[in-house]
Amino acid sequence: MTDQRVAIVTGASRGIGRAIAARLAADGRHVVCVARSEGPLNELVSEIQSSGGSASAKTCDISDFGAVAALVEGVAEEHGRLDILVNNAGITRDNLILRMDDDEWDAVIDTNLKSVFVACRAAARPMMRGKFGRIVNIASTSGIVGNAGQSNYAAAKSGLTGLTKSIARELGKKNITANCVAPGFIETDMTKDLPAGVIEHIKGVISTRDLGKPEDIAECVAYVTSDGAGYLTGQTIAVDGGMTMC
Ligand code: NDP
Repeated sequence: MTDQRVAIVTGASRGIGRAIAARLAADGRHVVCVARSEGPLNELVSEIQSSGGSASAKTCDISDFGAVAALVEGVAEEHGRLDILVNNAGITRDNLILRMDDDEWDAVIDTNLKSVFVACRAAARPMMRGKFGRIVNIASTSGIVGNAGQSNYAAAKSGLTGLTKSIARELGKKNITANCVAPGFIETDMTKDLPAGVIEHIKGVISTRDLGKPEDIAECVAYVTSDGAGYLTGQTIAVDGGMTMC
């Protein structure tokens, strides 16, 4: 068993997950980078290794629940420990409620909520064995205040907060914390196709008057997963430039 803390970061092939993986590796964790696209994962692992960090890549479709459970259990077995789980991978299938079909609802609930439950359940045992755990689920301000056209996404992200608080209550006595980090509008592929007018409107309601960067989220996740953050649990921390303040 290695002395180094072992972290799993899902959705590490780009955007927020990539920044989180790079940051946790820079902080000395061994990071297992997970997504469906092998090429970008391998590039990230090479980048981390060439700056002296430690990482490995695992491809997995997290909407395949058996595969997610096997991935988490496999990492814990391979390294003899699992300290940090960051459930970051997520999708959108936006539509107004009148037009939203069952497939759009199910895809978002399966990928953004059920897969996180499955990953947390698989991580609980190895974290209990190691008497340490930091679970971070990447939620969204849409899950806090809702968003027109995102009833599926907001329901999944809001569901994450209830899931996370319940895990925090169950596992706190085992030195395992569980928190949500809820990004506001962050510059990634997920937001790049928003019309310019919408971006300008969004900037107007953000106190800092700009969209966030993936590194803004990674900074918060680095703290929440640190050894020193053991008294922080069951929280949803909005990293949104002061957009929601609730
Ligand atoms: P991106 O679309 O840029 O990246 C999504 C990541 O998730 C990719 O690495 C993708 O990898 C992975 N992913 C998607 N589906 C699956 C799947 N079925 N199995 C495995 N991996 C998958 O999104 P962001 O970086 O913007 O978002 C990251 C998280 O932050 C998401 O949970 C999102 O909901 C949340 N968020 C983002 C906000 C924003 O403004 N950007 C705002 C609020 C929340 P691949 O395609 O290779 O599988």
